Amino acid sequence: MIELRTPAQVEQMRPAGRFVADVLTALVAKADVGVNLLELDALAHAMIRERGAESCYLDYHPSFGASPFGKVLCTSVNDAVLHGLPRDYVLRDGDLLSVDFAASVDGWVSDSAVSLVVGTPREEDLRLIEVTDRALDAAIAAAVPGNKLGDISFAIGEVARAAGLTINLQFGGHGVGRTMHGDPHVPNDGRPHRGFPLREGLVIAIEPWFLHTTNEIYTDADGWTLRSADGSRGAHMEHTVAITADGPLVLTART
Ligand code: MG
Repeated sequence: MIELRTPAQVEQMRPAGRFVADVLTALVAKADVGVNLLELDALAHAMIRERGAESCYLDYHPSFGASPFGKVLCTSVNDAVLHGLPRDYVLRDGDLLSVDFAASVDGWVSDSAVSLVVGTPREEDLRLIEVTDRALDAAIAAAVPGNKLGDISFAIGEVARAAGLTINLQFGGHGVGRTMHGDPHVPNDGRPHRGFPLREGLVIAIEPWFLHTTNEIYTDADGWTLRSADGSRGAHMEHTVAITADGPLVLTART
């Protein structure tokens, strides 16, 4: 069921968005060559405790998960692109890291992700991140009343296709509210002017993610981490966005 929020509820969702943005800002600043993924998780966990927030991941145990997630952050490195379970791994020069973080503050969830390179970047990795970011921007621009859900999906697909990337439709965006995953599903490609009519009060996570040379993934032996079928690297960008009468409101915007 798709739920719409009142303007007052959207206001109540701002602190969660701000907190998630602040945690990602801190993680981006901390991520560097020589930093362990477990240190990044510990930093996010400390910020959750300090804020009195609640992790959406710690006890997360969906049907496709092998066991409760047990960490507060997803850290996906190189050929891993989504759901990366933080492990004892020290970041190396040129690693492409995606961090995905969701938490609840005052009973409302926000969800956001960002990709970056630590140390010396490969040109093609910077380009992949830039295209993914541009797809997110195009999708956000389409998140206005009067459009349809398919317009958001199409905006993502257009940017990817123009860059010669193929798109995986298995995992995409989702409604966000009291819990992390609600309706509607927001695919990373679709047909314009089709699907659910976008209305004021719809709050969704929009999250394009692409791999260099494939759209196929497999699950790592850890039961969570999703890796590219051909070993190519991936990027992932996500914001939680409220559709308002004044246009898209990016709740997780980093300043
Ligand atoms: Mg997320």
